[in-house]
Parts: sequence; structure tokens; C-alpha cells
Amino acid sequence: MSDLVSVKMRASLSGLHVSGAEKIVPVSSASKVASRLVERALSHERGTPDFINVKIESLPSDILRLKALPVKTHAVATPAEGRALAARLLAEAGIANADEIMARFSETHSLRGAMLLDADTLERLEPDQSRGVRATYMDDAAALARGTAGVKNHYAEAIVLATKVQNAPNIIAEICVSDDPDYVTGYVATCELGYRRIAVLKEKGDPNGGRIFLYRGPRDGVAKTIEFLEKTPVLVDDVPTLSSAANAPRRFDGLADALDERQAAGLSRQCRTLEGPTGPTAVVDGRELVVFASNDYLDLARDPRVVKAAADAAKEFGAGSGGARLTTGTQPPHVRLENALAKFKGSEAALLYGTGYMANVGAISALVGKGDAVLSDELNHASIIDGCRLSGADVLVYRHGDMEDLDRKLGACREHRRRLAVSDGVFSMDGDILDLPRFLEVTRRHDAFSMVDEAHATGVVGQTGRGLAEHFGCSLPDVLMGTLSKALGAEGGFVCGSKLLVEYLRNMSRPFIFSTAPSAAVVAAADAALSVLEAEPWRVERLRENVAFFVGELKAHGIAASTQSAIVPVLVGDERRAMAVSAALERDGILVPAIRYPTVARGSARLRVAIMSAHAREQLSRAASLVGRELSGEVKKFSRHMGVDTILTNDYQPVSAGTGLR
Ligand SMILES: *Cc1c(COP(=O)(O)O)cnc(C)c1O
Repeated sequence: MSDLVSVKMRASLSGLHVSGAEKIVPVSSASKVASRLVERALSHERGTPDFINVKIESLPSDILRLKALPVKTHAVATPAEGRALAARLLAEAGIANADEIMARFSETHSLRGAMLLDADTLERLEPDQSRGVRATYMDDAAALARGTAGVKNHYAEAIVLATKVQNAPNIIAEICVSDDPDYVTGYVATCELGYRRIAVLKEKGDPNGGRIFLYRGPRDGVAKTIEFLEKTPVLVDDVPTLSSAANAPRRFDGLADALDERQAAGLSRQCRTLEGPTGPTAVVDGRELVVFASNDYLDLARDPRVVKAAADAAKEFGAGSGGARLTTGTQPPHVRLENALAKFKGSEAALLYGTGYMANVGAISALVGKGDAVLSDELNHASIIDGCRLSGADVLVYRHGDMEDLDRKLGACREHRRRLAVSDGVFSMDGDILDLPRFLEVTRRHDAFSMVDEAHATGVVGQTGRGLAEHFGCSLPDVLMGTLSKALGAEGGFVCGSKLLVEYLRNMSRPFIFSTAPSAAVVAAADAALSVLEAEPWRVERLRENVAFFVGELKAHGIAASTQSAIVPVLVGDERRAMAVSAALERDGILVPAIRYPTVARGSARLRVAIMSAHAREQLSRAASLVGRELSGEVKKFSRHMGVDTILTNDYQPVSAGTGLR
């Protein structure tokens, strides 16, 4: 006798199965686990059961230990793709008639257990065909060790079961699809292929599902196989945990699945910690990297004057502002910065927000609502998109940078009460800029509000970094939004405009009204950064020169790239390839992020190189040569494949009138 027991619980209502579970636990915790399983059954969402059966059995001491099948997820998009993939996997396991096998899911639905099929003749081999075969007496060895038995983890349970089944004599494969109509995921498991999770294996709403075990062997071996499945206790080691989903309650399953799909598609994301002050280099995971990823374009975040202003303001005014701007959160630094921003941009007034995101959401949702129309460039920043959605106005998305499309769409909105056209000034993933004079001409002709987001333009575009109006020598849009978090090295957002507009937003803009004012420290830092920027226009000039130099170096290495800002996109295409290139660059000491869906369209993953005024020439030329080494062949291939000749022909032009940098 071992000190382990099997605890099984089965609950039903009017004879229909409600829930069931089984665990292998130390005898000492058997009663606690049993009562937890009973509690769970009694609070089940399918209804309170009228019958609960709990069975506790001692187990032999020599429990078989198995190593979990390796897990791989396939992120297919449609049931047809999923089924085709399942058929390919079964074919790899030597099983030819996958379609006929999958058609049997209409029969498994009513079974309590699995269907045991002869893999070749497709005859059913279970002695009791109304019941099927039930794989039982199994658990995750790690859950036993952790003492987390009693917590449901569908993901781990499925892997444990599949592992046991694939270790049964004469079983060569299993295919499973959930019988929950809302849950479309399934898997194919074989010893060779492991556990292959298929994100979509049936249509949503389809109640058919179940398990099919595929048997190849003599008929007189069937009894032994069933004996193993139904009677032999098994503990499975090394069950992979899905991100942080281990032991999460069932309501978290959907979250874990969504993460898993992202991961399988090469789209999962993590925060990296950068040691040391923001700047052109940082220590990441113990190694110093040259950073080509920062928005701190002018190296102001660590500037001693800026840092001192923050420290002094914190000492004088406290760490937090203590309230929203309209209550107790307005302090002298807030007023000073609003005045300075208005002066810098050349507007009548300015309004501060906690972040640029809030400024976009706050301005758009205050200006337009139900019965209005908002026209948004298809490549606008997420905070603009969210502001449009939140406003409740009709949202019309126009083609990127296409002023004729904007004109047409505005023409179709004459009946709307108000019209607002909104665009990034510098597009944050492509680095190109809005044709502001044309934008203003079109919007004014239609008597529409014009709004431009200068998050990446402030401190970068225009001779002295004042933005697009300076660059083009034209007037300002009605609503000029910007952030303090990029070239100004601090954080916070702002809107510049007429006194009327700012007064309106101060009264109507919910993120301004209902959120605590940014701290005096961060506000004073931004104010100091603005002063440095005005006093030292060479920073903007140096940034411009660095960008031109870097783009020229890329070109020398066979990579065509162009930009009108400090953002240099280098197209790669495939998401996973972009990640691999980014990782290779990091091994060589440079940090260049890969930007992927959903930030950019699927299949247009890219490296996004952000240049700073503080990058040294050697850092720039080394980065360009490493990017060239990784990509020269590929960028050309991608460009041809996509038919995007412009990527190759729209070569870098020397800095001169006509680029955004002059
Ligand atoms: C970064 C960014 C924002 C948001 O600004 P935060 O201050 O970071 O919230 C808005 N619009 C664009 C185009 C941006 O790049």
C-alpha cells in the first residue's frame, strides 16, 4: 500500500452528468480534497446536482510515472484549416482516413467515455458501446507535489489524459474536440508528435465533440488496452503549465487559451526591464545594449537640469498632486507648463492631461458624440482609435494619408451635426508625416474640426522641433495634441488650441475632469525639458543628422528605408522572423524591437528603429551594418513578394526640403 489515494467525484441532476473530477492525493488530504470537490459540484453553473458520488480508493505503491507529451499549439483561423491540419497530423501517424474518423464525433457526443476505433477498419472496439472507454486513475504529479489538488485546470487535465492514453498498448493516436458548443479547440496526440493543440477544430455552436482513441493491433489485445486505460494508476511528470494559467479556476480558461494562441503565432509580449537611466544605452538582463527603441529622442529624460527640476518640484509641492485639476490638483507648475506649451506651439491656450493617451481620448470624446462623425486615418495611433470608439460618433476610416478619400468621406457626412478629422502628425509605426496644409484645406472646406497628434513630432519635426506647422510653414490645426513623454522626456499629454476650445475641454473632457492631475515633479520636468529644447536647438539638428546618417548607412548595406521623422521602419514581413532578427541583433548588443500585429497589420512585421540625438556615429553605423547582415536578402524578397516596389525605390533622400526633417 502506498500513502496515495484516488479521489473521484461524480455529480448528476435528473440522471444527467453535471460535473466530475478525479485526483490522486496523499491519504492525509483525502477528506479535504473530497469536500472541495463536493463543494465545487454543489455550486456548479449547470445547476445544483441531486446526486453526488464520492469514491476514495487506496492505490498500490508502484504507481506508474509517465513523462508528459510535449505540447505544441497551432493557431489556425477556421474549422476547415483545423480539420485539414488534424488530417495531416493523423496521416503522419500512419492513419489515412481522417475525415471518416472526424465524422464519428456525431456519435461520441452521447458517450460518457471515449470511442475506441480500429485505426484501419474504423470498427468500434469497446465492449459496451453505450458507455465507451473511460481513461481514469491519473493526475499531474506536480499538482500532487504542490498540494493544489482540487483546483481545476482543464489544460493540464487534457495533457495528463492524452499522455496516459498514448502510453496504452496498441493505441497509436487520439483526436479530441470539446463537446462544449462554445469551445472550439481540440487536439491530436500521438507519441511521436506529442500533444498538438489545434485552436479551431469545429464551428462555434456545434455541440458535437468527444474523444476517439485509435487502436492498431490484434483483437485479443483490446482487453489489455482497456484494462490499462481504466485501471492502471498513472502520475504524469513535467506537465507544461500554460503561461500563468496553472491552477487557475475554470473561468480563466478562455484567457489562457487566448494567450496560448498569441504565443503560438509568435505574438506574445513581455515587459523587459532596462536598468539605469533612460538614454542611448541600457543594461538589460545584465548586458549593456545600445537602445534603438526609445522615444526619448533628444536625450532629455536624464538631463541633469530636467531631473533637478523634478526633484525640486517634488520637494516643494509633494509627490502627488492630491486631486483632479478642477478640485485641488492645480499647482503653479501646471499653470506654468500650460502657458509654456501654448507659447511653444503658437496657440492661444493649452490643457494638460495625465498622459497622451488620455489627451486623445479626452479631446475626441468631448468634441464629438452621437449624431457626429469622426474621420480617422487608418494608421492612426490606438489612443485615437479608442477615443473615436468611446465618443459614440460615427467613425469613418479613410485610407492612409489619402486626402482625396478624406475629402470624399467628409462630403458624405454633411448631415452630421459635427465633423472631426483626426490624424497622427508623425505616424508612429511608419515614421511618415501628415500633409498638414492639405489636411487643413480639406477640413476647412467641409467646416470640419481638424485634429493632429504630434506625439512623435514635438521636438523632432520642424526646424526647432515645434512640429508640423513649423515644418510646412502653415497654420495650426484646431486641435493640436501632443505628449510630454517622448522628446520631452517626461510624461503627460496636452492639447493646444484656441481659448474657446481649451475652456470647452476643461469643462467637458472626462479624462481631464475625473483623473488626478499629474504630479508637480513630472510637470516641472517637462517644463524644464521644453526650456532646454528651446535653448538648445542643436539637439533637433543633431537628431536630424543622425537619422540621415543611419538611413544612408542602411542603404549602403542594401536596405532601403525612408522616414520623415526619427522613426525608421525596416520591413520584415513574417512575425516570427521579425522576432528572430530582433533577437539576433540583441545578441550583438543592440536593442531594436520587432513590431508585430496587432500594432501593425498581419504579415507586415518590422523592425522599428528609433534614433536619438545622443547616438554616436559608430553606434549608428554598427547598427546599420548588423541590420544589413540580417536582412539584406530578405527585405528585397519581401518587397517583391508583397509587390511593394516603393519600399525599394522610395529610397532615402538626402535631408532637404520635402522630407519631414527640414
Ligand atoms: C505615444 C503616443 C500617444 C500616447 O502618448 P502617451 O503619453 O504615451 O500616453 C499618442 N499618440 C501617438 C501617436 C503616440 O505615439
